[in-house]
Amino acid sequence: MEKLAVFGGNPVSEYKISYGRQCIEEDDIAAVVETLKSDYLTCGPKIAEAEKKLCEITGAKYAVVVSNGTAALHIAAMAAGFQEGDEVIVSSITFAASANCVLYVGAKPVFADIKSDTYNIDPDGVRRLITPKTKGIIAVDFTGQAVEHKELLEICREHNLVYIEDAAHAIGTKYEGKGVGSIADMTCFSFHPVKTVTCGEGGAVTTNDEAIYRKLLQYRAHGITRVAEEMTNPSDAKWYYEQVDLGYNYRLTDIQAAMLMTQLDKLDKFSARRSAIVKKYNEAFAEMPEIIVQREISESDTTRHLYILRLNLERLTCDRRAFFDALWAENICPQVHYIPVYWHSHYERLGYEKGLCPNAESLYKSMLSLPLYYTLSDEEVNMVIAAVKKVLAHYRK
Ligand SMILES: *Cc1c(COP(=O)(O)O)cnc(C)c1O
Repeated sequence: MEKLAVFGGNPVSEYKISYGRQCIEEDDIAAVVETLKSDYLTCGPKIAEAEKKLCEITGAKYAVVVSNGTAALHIAAMAAGFQEGDEVIVSSITFAASANCVLYVGAKPVFADIKSDTYNIDPDGVRRLITPKTKGIIAVDFTGQAVEHKELLEICREHNLVYIEDAAHAIGTKYEGKGVGSIADMTCFSFHPVKTVTCGEGGAVTTNDEAIYRKLLQYRAHGITRVAEEMTNPSDAKWYYEQVDLGYNYRLTDIQAAMLMTQLDKLDKFSARRSAIVKKYNEAFAEMPEIIVQREISESDTTRHLYILRLNLERLTCDRRAFFDALWAENICPQVHYIPVYWHSHYERLGYEKGLCPNAESLYKSMLSLPLYYTLSDEEVNMVIAAVKKVLAHYRK
């Protein structure tokens, strides 16, 4: 039996269980091949079809598919109007792209701490960070669990902030019955292979606001429009289009959009399998005082992207590094999600210091992500659990 650990570096030749893996089936392959034989490889009909499907799944009025999740965050930050001199409050435990998009537009990310039990952004902490310069919030549905929308929406309304949700982990998640994607001003998704559905690289922004939607369309394609009402110098010439703003080429291809649709058709089955694996892990670890299980809020009906194994280090003779390496030696390849963003040297050079978000830093020091993906078999889940138990037995105080 041979599998490749495709994320985070070099292929691993012997059999190891990696933390994430895509599931590509015959229908995905057929959709790609069909599109390759069609008239359009990009800017074709699959784009609107995929956007319609995303609207159906999320309940959003509008969706704009783009080349990746980072591009989604970038055009969302642009459409929000963030600029130099503005502050934007961002989750501290997330992939760097959640904050990088604020830097792209010249604004300043301000990192908010997480709650120590749900690991999601703490609305009370957000309140304390608001200044006259604050223009928006970027909240991350970490592991797929929805953020506390009720509280965050209240803060945004009170202070007139643009509310962006980074739902790269959370396609399919619902909050109080409403689809993630239909709640914040803009919601950003990623379809990277490690996420619940994939099209190689891909992303999307959803919104209920038509004016924002129009801007997102422009920023996806160079700032160019073909809509006369959006032009400064409209013309009825057949060739005419106008660049009315500065945008990028962040288009998704039709090849990717076709595959995104077949993947989205399988979201329910992907999500159900992930939930079943999470349940198995939780059951195995719930009674162990050396392990802390992530708290789930009742409002979130979660499609889980990550399973966080959090160590109660006071009860162990090792640190996270030793635990991680011991699992690796058992042929389990975990990962760590995430290094607090402001710990990266780029942010250090911008003047951010360690100690900013104590809950985030304490989580970082005690956690690792266990394998969680659709094709992970029960046998493999049991192997992971057995390996964790073996390592625990070794390091238990
Ligand atoms: C994956 C991810 C992104 C970036 O998405 P890409 O498609 O890889 O650009 C952004 N934010 C979070 C939280 C992610 O997990």
